[in-house]
Amino acid sequence: IKKDVLGVKSKENYSPTDKTNFKDIGGQNTAKKELMEALNFIITSEKTKSLGIRPLKGILLTGPPGTGKTLLAKAAATYTDAIFLATAGSEFIEMYAGVGAQRVRKLFKAAKHLAKKEKKPRAIIFIDELEILAGKRGSHSSHLEYDQTLNQLLVEMDGIETDKEVNILVLAATNRVDMLDQALLRPGRFDRIVKVDLPDKEGRLQILNIHTSNKPLDVNVDLEIIAQETFGFSGAHLENLANEAAIYALRDKSSKIMPKHFFEAIEKIMLGEKLDRKPDRQELERVAVHESGHAIISELLRPGSVAHIAITPRGQALGYMRQKPASDIYLYTKTYLLNQIKIAVAGSLAEEIMLGERSTGAVNDFNEAIKMAKQIVFSGLSELGVIDKEKEDESVNKQVKLIVANQMDEVKSFLLSKKILISELVDRLRKNEQVTGKQLQELIARFSNCA
Ligand code: ATP
Repeated sequence: IKKDVLGVKSKENYSPTDKTNFKDIGGQNTAKKELMEALNFIITSEKTKSLGIRPLKGILLTGPPGTGKTLLAKAAATYTDAIFLATAGSEFIEMYAGVGAQRVRKLFKAAKHLAKKEKKPRAIIFIDELEILAGKRGSHSSHLEYDQTLNQLLVEMDGIETDKEVNILVLAATNRVDMLDQALLRPGRFDRIVKVDLPDKEGRLQILNIHTSNKPLDVNVDLEIIAQETFGFSGAHLENLANEAAIYALRDKSSKIMPKHFFEAIEKIMLGEKLDRKPDRQELERVAVHESGHAIISELLRPGSVAHIAITPRGQALGYMRQKPASDIYLYTKTYLLNQIKIAVAGSLAEEIMLGERSTGAVNDFNEAIKMAKQIVFSGLSELGVIDKEKEDESVNKQVKLIVANQMDEVKSFLLSKKILISELVDRLRKNEQVTGKQLQELIARFSNCA
């Protein structure tokens, strides 16, 4: 759309041909259901009007980045046969007072104008990053400008009427509802809040299916396994994963995308691109020992939990051990957390046992271990019983240290009994730079009786 119609900059986009449908959105079943229910009010506006139901003016989509909020808004436009106009909160922020407010006015005007031009009964205005435009009034340093912009949005929304030629619906997205001015959330403005969360395993599988439907997959690719191993990925991550896997296949001159391309892509997204930097022999050995420690303890505590061990530098890491999540976990038991602490400290302890001393490579591991120990303490799962998180004192510190130290003692005595296994794994890693979870399991089975 031309700048002069809207008076707003680049991010504005308007596409009467974009036909995103709800079926193009994987997972998000609750969000889709709630949104469609709300949209049905608009489609059947005659009926709702006859019952005296006030028109729906705004729907707020909340949730982490990349989960499909924009997609949902586009699908809403297709579903309601509406014109779709998208913008972002940051587009309204200018140094000069009054400019933002003027843009809001123009946006609503443009929506009406375009809907009439396209002979559509409705227009959907989508505002991403709503918290930038509509933070709590008076909280910005240049608050006059921000406040005027928000006031204008409120005025425009209050002015929306159902019996006009064009019905306008405002959809907005934010991941910081807490930052929004309360006036926006009052009835008659953003009436509905639809939560758009990170997808669960089933959702991830659906999203992977959508984004691989145009790609040649090898018969051995099992998207269910990939969905299982991508806990915490958003829809945007998964779209990127499918794309990166295809790029790895291209680099390999393979006409099909193989499982290894997907796993390589998972690691790239989790840890960053492989680096050319080659550590020297001694450092490589230390990295191999360190990762072997993590992997052996992980496999001991949860057989089948190691997906991949590698000593090729990637992102910030010199080497890494990737675990397969057992299933999507949202609650942790004390045993689970203690086990994760054991796995975290095992790298450094393996260095101590095999190489005589530890190194600085374990800083992040210990930070992780401390974080998990604190989780135990603050969840009332430690000897201290239930405690107040606000009153973190020396007793908390002592308890955290004790938890980590106890796990370290246990891990150390176990690793001391597995020196031959560690050496063997280190040799394999040095030779091949990587060992798969399956190879590790075979190795452990073969060396199960060796000290
Ligand atoms: P942000 O908050 O960062 O603006 P968003 O929640 O609006 O993010 P989208 O822009 O909708 O996220 O998603 C980005 C891309 O990720 C989409 O274009 C799509 O390729 C992919 N994607 C995200 N969620 C899904 C999903 N549920 N199903 C299919 N694809 C998805």
